[in-house]
Amino acid sequence: MVFPFASVTDFNINLTEEHELFRKSVREFVENKVMPRWQEIERTNRIPQDLLDEMREQGFFGVGIPEEYGGQGGGQLMTAIMIEELSRAVPALGVTIGVNHLFAVPILLFGTEEQKKRYVTPIAQGKARGAHANTEPGGGSDVAGIQTRAKKVNDHYVITGRKVFISGAADADYLVVSARTSPPREDKRWWGISVFIVEKDYPGLKIGQQFKVMGMRGEQPYEVILDEVKVPAENLVGPENEGFKVIVTTYDHTRIGIAAQAVGIAQATFEKALNYALQRETFGQRLIQHQMIIQKLADMYMKLEAARLLTYWAASLADQGKREFIVAASLAKAFATEAAEWIARQAIQIHGGYGVDVETGVERYLRDAIITTIYEGTNEIQRLTIVRQLVRQAFGLKI
Ligand SMILES: Cc1cc2nc3c(=O)[nH]c(=O)nc-3n(C[C@H](O)[C@H](O)[C@H](O)COP(=O)(O)OP(=O)(O)OC[C@H]3O[C@@H](n4cnc5c(N)ncnc54)[C@H](O)[C@@H]3O)c2cc1C
Repeated sequence: MVFPFASVTDFNINLTEEHELFRKSVREFVENKVMPRWQEIERTNRIPQDLLDEMREQGFFGVGIPEEYGGQGGGQLMTAIMIEELSRAVPALGVTIGVNHLFAVPILLFGTEEQKKRYVTPIAQGKARGAHANTEPGGGSDVAGIQTRAKKVNDHYVITGRKVFISGAADADYLVVSARTSPPREDKRWWGISVFIVEKDYPGLKIGQQFKVMGMRGEQPYEVILDEVKVPAENLVGPENEGFKVIVTTYDHTRIGIAAQAVGIAQATFEKALNYALQRETFGQRLIQHQMIIQKLADMYMKLEAARLLTYWAASLADQGKREFIVAASLAKAFATEAAEWIARQAIQIHGGYGVDVETGVERYLRDAIITTIYEGTNEIQRLTIVRQLVRQAFGLKI
């Protein structure tokens, strides 16, 4: 036993030659099709449709989704590798994939067979796009505190409320939406929330303002307004009033993708800094010969590989169906996103003035990295989860 894990074998990462072949093919696509377009995406704040079409042709939207629902199969490790490689070029593409998963995962985990066939299949085939609407003006971390209401009327629910910071909402064909169907129970604040599938054409659903956030240009979040939106009862995902579990279990899985975004950012900025340090000369020496730069590069590299190992480990545990993946996913998300932020910052410093020149394409990664520390559970919330899961895993105690 390696406290709090049962065995050292829990630290296995089940990578195979298949993962490497897949990584190579994503890298090739990224180098040829994505890298040349980062400036266009930064400038227009849109992912070009032809690039999305090419991603669909490559089958990227189906990775991590079972073949029976139109996907490519492959688990969390395959998904993490793809997100890492895409994010190495344009981290917003990690968001494009991520929001689809935030829509599909709750349905795959808790939905009916009919819901999976009807809604997950077009997402996996890249024919439709999804979004996930949970956060509200009153708060995002406190999922139990949401104010959006859903009232059951005969064979449907009527949803009214407002959601904020919903990535991909303007392009989404379908959204999962959380709403309160019953008041909380005295002993269970989380009880009484339900999750629904809402189609973009349902009357009363409006996409409001776009939030102009500092990074992830290409995939900006939106306000979503629900004004008495009538949703068929069969669109309820999981049991009524148990939606809190649907939401938090979804994040347990999808936050590995955020860690993977961060690894892609860390990899990109480390490579850029290393290359620059090998070329640039000051005081008659290349930067890489100055001890202070050597120390920075060594620390960047340490954090990068630790972030990657934690991320692949969490994904591997999830693929093996081990419950320990929950704590591993939080460790990976918090560590990798903070590592990415730090590494991106050092990369700017190593580039000197060119580091803060937007045309160099380094500073954008820092803006993106900061966002990864905030969404899908801020890193403060990850730290709560880490200690709660640790105590539960080790001592069977709830704190
Ligand atoms: C670019 C972007 C995209 C997003 N996309 C989506 C999306 O697609 N769908 C969606 O539903 N949401 C999305 N979000 C929302 C995101 O998940 C929330 O912003 C996040 O969960 C934090 O919620 P909040 O902003 O309301 O902060 P709050 O919950 O108000 O927290 C404010 C601060 O207090 C800290 N804090 C809160 N509670 C505690 C506590 N108990 N202990 C210690 N510290 C605490 C937080 O960590 C944070 O630092 C997105 C956000 C951004 C920025």
